[in-house]
Amino acid sequence: MPEGHTIHRLAARHAELFAGDKVLVASPQGRFTEGAALLSGTVLEHTEAYGKHLLHHYAGELILHVHLGLYGKVTDGDGEPPEPVGQVRLRLVSDRHWLDLRGPTACEVFTPPEAAALRARLGPDPLRADADPERAYARIVRSATPLAALLLDQSVVAGTGLIFVTEALFRAGLSPTRPGRKLTRAGWDTLWADLVELMTLAVGTGRIDTVRPAHLPEAMGRPARVDRHGGEVYVYRRAGQPCHVCDIPVSRGTITGRNLYWCPGCQV
Ligand SMILES: [Zn+2]
Repeated sequence: MPEGHTIHRLAARHAELFAGDKVLVASPQGRFTEGAALLSGTVLEHTEAYGKHLLHHYAGELILHVHLGLYGKVTDGDGEPPEPVGQVRLRLVSDRHWLDLRGPTACEVFTPPEAAALRARLGPDPLRADADPERAYARIVRSATPLAALLLDQSVVAGTGLIFVTEALFRAGLSPTRPGRKLTRAGWDTLWADLVELMTLAVGTGRIDTVRPAHLPEAMGRPARVDRHGGEVYVYRRAGQPCHVCDIPVSRGTITGRNLYWCPGCQV
């Protein structure tokens, strides 16, 4: 599933392509026909990402809510759109650009109160200027749930997925199984600041890199990582391989059904 940086990049991209323009909205697949009719012919005023949720704000207080889920994909281009290929749930077309959305978990029109309810059920998003990390810490510090599960819970922190959580816990030297209530105030401040830094970097580059300069392939004389998500990481999907810091093999286990990776030497 895409992590929050991908959604923030999409929000910025869609504002760049369409903000201030009147757009024609359609659902070539037919599953969003009514919603498309509400939006079509209105001006896309601005866009917003909140965690893994994408919001388009249209004139007349109409809000398009999209959650890509596991399979959602967005493509765009200049000029005339091509013939729709596959299951295009949503198509936006302006005089200059087009955009297709396929396979989302959610694609619906929200009223402002519905958008407010969405924001209210999400934890702070490290990529948003209005994020309040105190809200997250208040939840974490009174919970016996493992830290990894808390940080993956979108009502605690929004936008973080498995890679950011796994890697931020490594960088903080914290075991993913440590109960939330054992996280100190200083520990949380460090972890939050690191999530902000790692996720902001990923918004800029479009990939997740978490390795400090001393542990980069060129610094260590090791081959670069080959992985679908592209970036250099410490433990994510590196089970059995030596830790870049202490050489102990990286462990893997599951917490609330998710694969977790950690270094038994570096994380306590
Ligand atoms: Zn280690």
